Amino acid sequence: MSKKDIFCQIIDGEIPCYKLYEDDDVLAFLDISQVTKGHALVIPKEHYDNFLATPQETMHKVMDVAQRIGQVEIKILGAQGVNILTNCYEAAGQSVPHFHVHVIPRYDNKGGFVLEMHSNSDGLNLPAIAEEIGKSLK
Ligand code: AMP
Repeated sequence: MSKKDIFCQIIDGEIPCYKLYEDDDVLAFLDISQVTKGHALVIPKEHYDNFLATPQETMHKVMDVAQRIGQVEIKILGAQGVNILTNCYEAAGQSVPHFHVHVIPRYDNKGGFVLEMHSNSDGLNLPAIAEEIGKSLK
């Protein structure tokens, strides 16, 4: 049997967490490595490897809780903004192979989190790329 990932161990009560919210399908808790004050993780109780592998209904339940936590963090913690993100696969920075959404409050853009997206459209054929992706979404 394969080893349980750390979030399945949290769900099963084998590892403690600072719980924020729980229902039958979803658990939310503080990230152990706080990027900013209130950095939260939202996960489905059923194991799925990542966002892309999660059935729509479950994904919606997780995103609903992430939205509510973001709203609370603006209202209660005084955050000026919130980053909501999920990494899929190691190449995108995923370190725990269990679908999770980060909710990261932002305070005047200070804190340990810098989201840098370096644009580089040089040499890219945007109409062809749009056509290639778009035709698979029909
Ligand atoms: P990612 O890199 O997107 O897979 O994020 C995984 C996150 O899980 C990291 O931000 C870790 O700090 C966090 N993490 C790992 N172990 C624990 C734990 N036991 N309790 C809370 N957060 C954890």
